[in-house]
Amino acid sequence: ARPTTRSLALEARLAVALERREFRLYYQPKLDISGGRVHGLEALLRWQDSQDGLVPPSLFVPLLERSGAIAEVGEWVLQQAVHDMQRWLAAGLGGIRVAVNVSPLQLRRRDFVDQVLRSVHASVTAPQGVDIEITESMLMQDIELSMRKLAQLREAGIGIAIDDFGTGYSSLRLLARLPVDTLKIDRSFIQGIADTANGITLVSTIVSLAHAFGMQAVAEGVETAAQLQSLRNIGCDQAQGYLFARPVPGDEIPALVARLAGQPPGSGDEPVR
Ligand code: C2E
Ligand code: CA
Ligand code: CA
Repeated sequence: ARPTTRSLALEARLAVALERREFRLYYQPKLDISGGRVHGLEALLRWQDSQDGLVPPSLFVPLLERSGAIAEVGEWVLQQAVHDMQRWLAAGLGGIRVAVNVSPLQLRRRDFVDQVLRSVHASVTAPQGVDIEITESMLMQDIELSMRKLAQLREAGIGIAIDDFGTGYSSLRLLARLPVDTLKIDRSFIQGIADTANGITLVSTIVSLAHAFGMQAVAEGVETAAQLQSLRNIGCDQAQGYLFARPVPGDEIPALVARLAGQPPGSGDEPVR
């Protein structure tokens, strides 16, 4: 499709968004299903556009990928996440891992591993505990090289998660070889979990698969207490979704973590809207 006038105008504003410091990082917690503890946070990119306000990534990440600017913006995301972790640490909130999303274009860059390690170890007080999330479909390209890079990051203590798991075409042979710690089960599977017998069987099979390969399973997009109960029944490790919290700015994280610590998931509370 040809770019519309509107998307071209958006692209022009997007091109200067990094310079103008218009990107923001929001964070959404992932909770341990059995203990209810906050296990980690996922960093989610937002664009505070002068015209359109807060723009969701589904609208602009594809444009950043098309222009190649995702590499620079991705570097900013990592640095900002590390910076926020240091601020939380100073506020007394330690030991929380943060996951950042990585685009295929970033992984394909020759200096990707160096760049990630540089950002993570940028400061002497650099907190441990950065993970990366990569969508399943992108791992299919240039598989040998991707696997080498991921293995290098993992040796440096960075956790690797496969995002949107179940929507791509990973073979079991590939899964067995991947240097990966976590499978994130796509939201579309979680939505169907309570509706049909097949829905729960599907998710339960993915959880078993993850455990068989020594990986953790994380459910995305958990919105109801019924979904959480089903996930608990089948032994899923972690859950993330509106039931616990929407993504919030970094400043709100200490208060959010404190609130979640005092309120075990599935204790009958209404989802946060
Ligand atoms: P994702 O990595 O699968 O992120 C999860 C998305 O699900 C987020 O959307 C989150 O806000 C949303 N979500 C979480 N819980 C629920 C729920 O209970 N119900 C529903 N309906 N949605 C929920 P968001 O923030 O709009 O991000 C969309 C996608 O944009 C992400 O999908 C990710 O692929 C991409 N993205 C976000 N930040 C970055 C980034 O820094 N770099 C790159 N390359 N991509 C990013
Ligand atoms: Ca993700
Ligand atoms: Ca996902």
